[in-house]
Amino acid sequence: MKKTIKDYELNGKKVIIRCDFNVPIENGIIKDETRLKASLKTIRYARKMGAKVILLSHLGRIKTKEDKQKYTLKPVAEKLSKLLRKKVTFINQTRGEKLETAINTMKNKDVILIENTRFEDLEDKKESNNDEMLGKYWASLGDIFINDAFGTIHRNHASNLGIATHLPSGIGFLVENEIKNLTKLIDNPKTPYTIILGGSKVADKIGVIANLINKADYILISGGMAFTFLKAAGFSIGSSLCEKDKINYCKNLLDKYESKIVLPIDIITAKDIKENTKTYERFLGEIEEDEIGLDIGPKTTEVFKQYLDDCKTIFWNGPAGYFELKPFQNGTKTLLNIIANTKAYTVIGGGDTARAAADFNYQDKISHISTGGGASLAFLEGKKLEALDIIDEK
Ligand code: ADP
Ligand code: MG
Repeated sequence: MKKTIKDYELNGKKVIIRCDFNVPIENGIIKDETRLKASLKTIRYARKMGAKVILLSHLGRIKTKEDKQKYTLKPVAEKLSKLLRKKVTFINQTRGEKLETAINTMKNKDVILIENTRFEDLEDKKESNNDEMLGKYWASLGDIFINDAFGTIHRNHASNLGIATHLPSGIGFLVENEIKNLTKLIDNPKTPYTIILGGSKVADKIGVIANLINKADYILISGGMAFTFLKAAGFSIGSSLCEKDKINYCKNLLDKYESKIVLPIDIITAKDIKENTKTYERFLGEIEEDEIGLDIGPKTTEVFKQYLDDCKTIFWNGPAGYFELKPFQNGTKTLLNIIANTKAYTVIGGGDTARAAADFNYQDKISHISTGGGASLAFLEGKKLEALDIIDEK
């Protein structure tokens, strides 16, 4: 078991907390506060225990000097001050005298937010390549390191792996909660256990399929990835997405797990991907050459419902259709509604699937929606996560 923030005496200590404040910001305005709110529990706890709280996060990607203006964390400091009802002092540098002085004059319960860690990427990608001196420098600013950024747990950055190498470390409440919930999908999941996969590409999901197929009872295939499977099963797919180099993989999987993998039986197609376009419901074999499959049809959701209704565990990754456009939202909406109304333990992972759950107002009806897109998949693939492995054990 990993040490958590609760395993440390925090009073008077300088506690560096790596958060995930990678939020969408337009013209200085934060468009989605979910990640900020998700980080509050750990920050509040650290303050309550009398820590001097030093926050670090990345935001966007920094490739040019101009990116620095766009991706400053200043608006995050302002929003956090409001959410915490405590001034969060923003330091507009990632290293230097001003930062060091600010930290050395902190009182217990004070909060400092350091500028976007990826500003260090302008020079030799120091943050993203885990430059050793940078991790060591940041570690020198504090006494204890807490990793509460689940969204970057699959990346080896100076601000997570680097700092943890040089300080006593633990995980925060957000990371602890993610691990607890996602582990239920891997270690002795309650059965029947059904997985819904969708999204654009088979290639993105091969790792998850490999790690989970023997644990799940059924895998329901939807989204753009369904068409490579349908092609492999011998059906015409018109102009739908198709990964030619994955057809064989899909064929083998279908042969080996014939009774486990469930494919769509009807498809919503269109001739172009735009709002107000004419759509057609096609059964397998009916899709015409110039049609693109963009959602699963109503007969498919009825079939899927039978596999979901009496489940004890459901994991969903990848939208069932091109949910960004109205004509292709029904499949995703219907599946959300079905899983929201089961008694199962339900988990959504993947950035776009989580966004669909939020857009269609199902956040509160799902047992767990992961805050990490790629990170949740990496975790479920059983990938080695060095930034997590490095954290001290109890
Ligand atoms: P997640 O981020 O949840 O892991 P993905 O990134 O794999 O999901 O896939 C999300 C994308 O898949 C969405 O942008 C959606 O429009 C697209 N998608 C879903 N179904 C289709 C389809 N039939 N054709 C093309 N794109 C699709
Ligand atoms: Mg995605």
